[in-house]
Amino acid sequence: LTSGLESAWSKLKGEEVLTKENIAEPMRDIRRALLEADVSLPVVRRFVQAVSDQAVGVGVIRGVKPDQQLVKIVNDELVKLMGGEVSELTFAKSGPTVILLAGLQGVGKTTVCAKLANYLKKLGKSSMLVAGDVYRPAAIDQLVILGEQVKVPVYTAGTDTKPSEIARQGLAEAKKKNIDVVIMDTAGRLQIDKGMMDELKEVKRVLNPTEVLLVVDAMTGQEAAALVTTFNVEIGITGAILTKLDGDSRGGAALSVKEVSGRPIKLVGRGERMEDLEPFYPDRMAGRILGMGDVLSFVEKAQEVMKQEDAEDLQKKIMSAKFDFNDFLKQTRAVARMGSMTRVLGMIPGMGKVTPAQIREAEKSLKIMEAMIEVMTPEEREKPELLAESSTRRKRVAQESGKTEQQVSQLVAQLFQMRVRMKNLMGVMEGGSIPALNN
Ligand code: GDP
Ligand code: MG
Repeated sequence: LTSGLESAWSKLKGEEVLTKENIAEPMRDIRRALLEADVSLPVVRRFVQAVSDQAVGVGVIRGVKPDQQLVKIVNDELVKLMGGEVSELTFAKSGPTVILLAGLQGVGKTTVCAKLANYLKKLGKSSMLVAGDVYRPAAIDQLVILGEQVKVPVYTAGTDTKPSEIARQGLAEAKKKNIDVVIMDTAGRLQIDKGMMDELKEVKRVLNPTEVLLVVDAMTGQEAAALVTTFNVEIGITGAILTKLDGDSRGGAALSVKEVSGRPIKLVGRGERMEDLEPFYPDRMAGRILGMGDVLSFVEKAQEVMKQEDAEDLQKKIMSAKFDFNDFLKQTRAVARMGSMTRVLGMIPGMGKVTPAQIREAEKSLKIMEAMIEVMTPEEREKPELLAESSTRRKRVAQESGKTEQQVSQLVAQLFQMRVRMKNLMGVMEGGSIPALNN
């Protein structure tokens, strides 16, 4: 059966080249996908232009349709744009590493402080949090509580001390205690304003931080590009942390960050728990932006297609040459589902192979087989020999399923071929001959 699908697929293989004409429509889809993912318009324009320039004239890999080939180019380009690989945090060569967090109000800076300390602990590094948001007493309390949760010290100096002074004191304290990493929380505003920027500049001057990380809410949307640009021009950032990726957002802000600042996203927040901080993977984000979901989760699903117990059950039947139409159906459906999985995976570099037309072909033949198996009696399903031996039975199945008797015969023959092939696969060579169909 698998080889049947393979031959259906191979029929559709051809060679083509990407042209201005054949990329026009998919390019529009890609443009729309990017805008829907909240990538800023100027970024989308530049990106689409760059990809079009690059794509025209590119030879299409055999068996891959032009639009898929294009998606591959787009995907590769997205990954490259977002830094290609995971960007690690930088640590100071001597003395404490200082991480300054900046960003608008409510984006998750204070939460990130504690998450980051928790993350660093797993890397074997000690840290200290410094409470630099002096505008609301509640902000200091929040940091203290989070610090207790992850069991790291929090340096506070109340709300009457200037943030830059708190920064200086906090850093001195951390040096005294031989802390590896100092994480400075700062106050945000609802919008960018001069007071906030001046304060951040002053804190930065005092701390001379190893990392200045801009915390960006993944829901920021279209304004992300302007926001990142301003922060980068004003205070200079070394990277970003994208928070609230557990929400509905497609994460288009991720693309804007790197495009406009040249600085990578280093970490992502995926929830409110202290464990919900992880490295930023450009390839997974590219998948999310293109609407393909998380690549890894698809791979996992594909692996689940045939459940463990099913597989074991099947194995027993193969060993005892009892593989019947019920198993056949199960197996066929699993392969078909793998097919649709492959379509998604096909969009990912290095995995492109199956075209939508090939998938449709496979799904069509599955429907035909299902129709015939459905009208078989339970006995016939379990003992395919009954159908092999009686043309009356085959005729009945054909009539009730609206297929031809020839199609039924083919199906029966296919089942026995499969029995043999599976037994061979299992290394069990005895038995399992293909009976001739009696009249
Ligand atoms: P700050 O004003 O930048 O310090 O933001 P906070 O750290 O106080 O966070 C604001 C709100 O966002 C809080 O309710 C957090 O629990 C929530 N939050 C922070 N990070 C995430 C995240 O990654 N996912 C979700 N769902 N909520 C988050
Ligand atoms: Mg805060």
